[in-house]
Amino acid sequence: MSEQRIKCAIIGSGPGGYTAAIYASRAGLNPIVFTGTAPGGQITMTDQIDNFPGYPEGISGFGLMEDIRKQAERFNTEIRNKSIIRVDFSKRPFVLETEDKDIILAESVIISTGASARWLGIESERKFRGMGVSTCATCDGFFYRKKDVAVIGGGDTACSEALYLSTICNKVYLVVRRDQLRASKAVQDMLLAKENVEILWKQKPVEILGDEEGVTGLKVVSSDNGEEKSIDVMGVFVAIGNIPNTELFKGQIELDEAGYIKTQGASSYTSIEGIFAAGDVQDPRYKQAITAAGSGAIAAIDCEHWLMEHPLQ
Ligand code: NAP
Repeated sequence: MSEQRIKCAIIGSGPGGYTAAIYASRAGLNPIVFTGTAPGGQITMTDQIDNFPGYPEGISGFGLMEDIRKQAERFNTEIRNKSIIRVDFSKRPFVLETEDKDIILAESVIISTGASARWLGIESERKFRGMGVSTCATCDGFFYRKKDVAVIGGGDTACSEALYLSTICNKVYLVVRRDQLRASKAVQDMLLAKENVEILWKQKPVEILGDEEGVTGLKVVSSDNGEEKSIDVMGVFVAIGNIPNTELFKGQIELDEAGYIKTQGASSYTSIEGIFAAGDVQDPRYKQAITAAGSGAIAAIDCEHWLMEHPLQ
């Protein structure tokens, strides 16, 4: 257990957090990044990223985050593989407590804790989690080589997961609750060209079937006529969106109805002076790696200017 006073703490290590770190370290704020339990953030689960500028051939999410992390370290950002488990934003310096009870007294904080995968919330999903139910095709797709799997959802995540799985698995069912996809046109076009992907339109997943060995199928119900049917699959990938990781800040900082941190206008200013937010944790709309990175830059610039105007003895 120790106590340390610092100028700038960055909570979270996705594109927003690490980009904030590049800017904050170059501005001489000597930031410390607390990575949380998933260094690199949610994007490390993405197999192929083709829309982050600077990578003409695309790059994996893991590779991208390795590059951004190394860039932050080049300017002497300190990266701690620890989680912040408690915060007190009631007075400056702000108090952050790590999982091993270290106390950080931070003059400013940039929150970039991202978002986590949303679950369907049905009992059988909980039962078979890790036994055939997953939210990460890049992590778990390998286990379903030449097998049949289902992906639930119709957004960019679901379609990218289905595309990736189509290269490994025998057959991929994409279970979509409406009669249209939400994913970008480029991803939709790639998916529709895949022969081993079948889209099950207007189908709502109601139960994941299985035995003591794991998942054996998925029961869906038609939103048109209520007809129920089961498909035989050994893996079910849930990709139905995200929820912001703001549990830690509830009651201390202003959140919107969906739990995202509210920021002021185009800035990263939150409801508390000296606390800034970047990336998916404050973005219910765009949620791209590049927009998260951009907002990380904004947060560090806001933070630098604010610290100059509000020095703390
Ligand atoms: P999303 O865009 O919110 O899509 C969620 C999908 O899941 C929708 O098709 C939604 O159906 C469906 N869904 C939600 N709840 C459901 C339920 N209970 N049962 C069945 N289906 C359900 O989420 P996302 O795909 O994770 O994407 C989030 C953001 O990240 C988006 O802005 C996306 O563009 C971005 N993203 C970008 C990339 C990329 O650019 N490479 C990759 C991944 C994600 P409805 O359409 O009916 O609501």
